[in-house]
Amino acid sequence: MTATSPIKRVLLLFAMEAEANPLISKLSLKKDDPQMVSGPAPCVTYSGIVGDLQVHVAWNGKCAVNSVDNVGTVPASLTAYLTIQALDPDLVISAGTAGGFKAQGAAIGDTFVGTSVVNHDRRIPIPGFDKYGIGELQSPPTPGLQTALGFKSGVISSGNSLDYTDKCLEIMGSHKAAVKEMEAAAIAWVCNLYSKPLICVKSITDIVDGGRPSHEEFLENLSTAAVALQTAVPRVLEFVSGKTMADL
Ligand code: SAH
Repeated sequence: MTATSPIKRVLLLFAMEAEANPLISKLSLKKDDPQMVSGPAPCVTYSGIVGDLQVHVAWNGKCAVNSVDNVGTVPASLTAYLTIQALDPDLVISAGTAGGFKAQGAAIGDTFVGTSVVNHDRRIPIPGFDKYGIGELQSPPTPGLQTALGFKSGVISSGNSLDYTDKCLEIMGSHKAAVKEMEAAAIAWVCNLYSKPLICVKSITDIVDGGRPSHEEFLENLSTAAVALQTAVPRVLEFVSGKTMADL
């Protein structure tokens, strides 16, 4: 895949089953049998044809010990690495729910497309490692997609906690993060290893700088946000179908 060849095969990565399921139903995707990735990696994969696109969805599977979804950067990078290796997609999309910063124009229910990713919980104050820790990676420009679909855009910051420390807030503020979640920077790192283009599409479930605890707002708005993704992601697929990365 180069910037000048048309997009035909898309890999959509989600952390949680509740985020992925509405889209899987809407696109009538079928659970892969056998699974695209054989164990012990816990990710779960679905595939199907949508218009002219081959579409594949993976979510991170459940934690066998705690019976909850494997959220966070470690499972996200494992799923991304193995599914990209198995599929050789033309485009990877990291989709899911996220917190939004009202200071950067975010409101609950918004859909954001990432312009770059950073990490806010990898603080290593040693020359060289400090920048490595932030791990800033630019996303491919998608001005046409953003305008056509009416999505907001901004910097996405990832970390392994649903809450945050003062230091996390300071780092997110200094990078003008609009979106806070737990996977995108890890997936971007893997996509960079494979030289695969990544678009991040995030639906806002909670406002980080809004005064209410993230977990309360997140649980209240998770199903609404998953339904918003059920609408937003097919529009993204329709828009990218047959286009080149340079057309986006
Ligand atoms: N308590 C939830 C667990 C969700 S963890 C449950 O039981 O279902 C949060 C997931 O949503 C992660 O995959 C993360 O990417 C995303 N997320 C949503 N809002 C977030 C926020 N404010 N901060 C970090 N991650 C957030």
